[in-house]
Amino acid sequence: MRNGTFSGCSEEIKRCKKLYKEFGEAEVFLTGICKKADQYFQKNPVDVIPLFDAEEAENKIRSGNSIKLNPPLVKKQFGELFKKATEVMAQVNKELKHTAKTLDDKLEQFLKASSDELSKEDVYNFRDSLIKETVLEKDMATFLFSFLLSSFYRQQLDSIKEVIRTDLWEGGECPLCGERPHFALLTSDSGAKQLECWLCGTEWIHTRVKCPFCDNEDHEKLGYFTIEDSEICRVNVCNSCCQYYKVFDARKFHVGEEVVLTIHNLATLDYDLLARQEGYLPGSGLEWVNDSEVSDRQD
Ligand SMILES: [Zn+2]
Ligand SMILES: [Zn+2]
Repeated sequence: MRNGTFSGCSEEIKRCKKLYKEFGEAEVFLTGICKKADQYFQKNPVDVIPLFDAEEAENKIRSGNSIKLNPPLVKKQFGELFKKATEVMAQVNKELKHTAKTLDDKLEQFLKASSDELSKEDVYNFRDSLIKETVLEKDMATFLFSFLLSSFYRQQLDSIKEVIRTDLWEGGECPLCGERPHFALLTSDSGAKQLECWLCGTEWIHTRVKCPFCDNEDHEKLGYFTIEDSEICRVNVCNSCCQYYKVFDARKFHVGEEVVLTIHNLATLDYDLLARQEGYLPGSGLEWVNDSEVSDRQD
């Protein structure tokens, strides 16, 4: 999702269909939503953050503190993109027509009660209220809101993430926005573990044998598992904090162009299910699995 476009997404979706068994229902929805978002942002470009003190940012990173840059979202744009998503939802799955309508109504109420700029917390609170009121299940809420938030964040912070000194960063959370990662790439050249922020897209190299969530480096307490010997995706787990994240090995599907890891993540949600069934929680806080699914299989 670089440069504010979603143009690389359809190619990546095609690639992921070949690489992973279980893309599932998300594929049609994802294809539709990427197309709509692309059209939307071409007509309504998002403003990049104008004021940024690179020196101050570097000092923060050097002292081991995330910059925690969390720009507000323009309410009008958030609402418009949200509606594009519910439009796609109603189109691809007739059973979700009613849900889409309810979501639009809830959106109206939320926007009415909000100021012109939305903080990330405002958006999270809206998401949580939809789950609480059982308008959306957790997995769908995670999909919808991580798509919306990351679409805006990646564009607003695109030019900044290119200039920040990620090479000085050793932390587990994102040096730019402070979110905790959900996935990483083993780079195709050196096999180094490169974490990627699901929200703003910042990438940074992180010690391979180290938990990004609790900094545990005891290799006896760190492990990973895969599904059916797949060498591309693995779930890295930490038995000290009992959390997980996913790692994609680019050496196994080497491609010249950039990898859209967000799509790989969505194509491998069966790994998240397995991780949850094994008792690990997502260190990112992103719940891709409903509680009912976890308990279903345990019975
Ligand atoms: Zn980030
Ligand atoms: Zn840990």
